[in-house]
Amino acid sequence: MVNSYIPKTYKEALNLLAQNELLIIAGGTDLMVKFKSISGLLPKFKKDMLFISHLAELDFIKKEKNSIHIGANVTLEKVLNSKHTHYLLKKALLIMASPAIRNMGTVGGNIVNASPAGDTLPVLYVLNTKIVVESLDNKRIIPIEDFIVGPSKTILKENELVKEIIIEDKSFDYMVFEKIGTRQADAISKISFAAVTNIKNSNISDFRVSFGAVGPRIVREKELEKKVIGVTIDELNGMCNLICDNYSKFITPIDDQRSSAIYRKKVALNLLEEYIKSIK
Ligand SMILES: Cc1cc2nc3c(=O)[nH]c(=O)nc-3n(C[C@H](O)[C@H](O)[C@H](O)COP(=O)(O)OP(=O)(O)OC[C@H]3O[C@@H](n4cnc5c(N)ncnc54)[C@H](O)[C@@H]3O)c2cc1C
Repeated sequence: MVNSYIPKTYKEALNLLAQNELLIIAGGTDLMVKFKSISGLLPKFKKDMLFISHLAELDFIKKEKNSIHIGANVTLEKVLNSKHTHYLLKKALLIMASPAIRNMGTVGGNIVNASPAGDTLPVLYVLNTKIVVESLDNKRIIPIEDFIVGPSKTILKENELVKEIIIEDKSFDYMVFEKIGTRQADAISKISFAAVTNIKNSNISDFRVSFGAVGPRIVREKELEKKVIGVTIDELNGMCNLICDNYSKFITPIDDQRSSAIYRKKVALNLLEEYIKSIK
């Protein structure tokens, strides 16, 4: 038997987290599946629950000078429909889950669930997203690649919750998000891919690439990205095989019920090659 806590305010939620060991539940679309029982029975949660999805303090989207701030409780559907949402994030959300799930599931939940197949993640990685976490007496702002440390693992402490995410609001000359799944939507990704590039005076001035579902964490290799900064578009195209070879070392997928490792790796590198060749 577990207890449920339904705080009236965000402050009360932080107080409850400071005093108890609780499982935070937002939309519940991951947790209800993870802890499901046989049909007709209640889910088998192992800890007392802290319900947060009704907290208005975590339900906002606001634009600042060079960034968009999204409260952890904002549903995926609201993020999709906001005029402030980055084009690339909209692309990922449009083919994520189904409208019913998007109306319950939250962006905070997708991040803290920390699945390598989470569809917002490759986009959030290339947009240099930062995660704002708070406890009663502390606040931390953490780059997403440091926040997620493995499948279903983050550095969130027991007394902390995610308050908001900060996404870089930058436009790019070339942007892509691709999801390979069994169906177009409402399917877990076999592979996902996000990339953005800017060109300045015919040279590559910004180049970022990330892959989902090809390893225990999202793959983004900033050292490899730096190697193409300053090269011309022709040079970038000439380096295509070398770039793919370099990324190949970091693409370490597994075989599972959705796909094979060999297929995932081949398709991930094909997506990278296709993206580089699309830069003209
Ligand atoms: C039918 C179905 C289809 C789906 N399709 C997709 C899909 O296509 N792509 C995809 O990426 N996902 C998909 N999902 C997974 C899920 O909908 C998303 O991951 C969603 O964003 C989770 O959000 P939530 O609010 O429901 O999270 P919850 O289930 O409430 O929580 C998930 C995790 O996040 C933690 N958490 C939530 N909010 C906070 C917070 N503010 N602070 C700290 N911890 C927090 C919880 O403790 C838990 O560990 C699907 C799920 C279902 C059931």
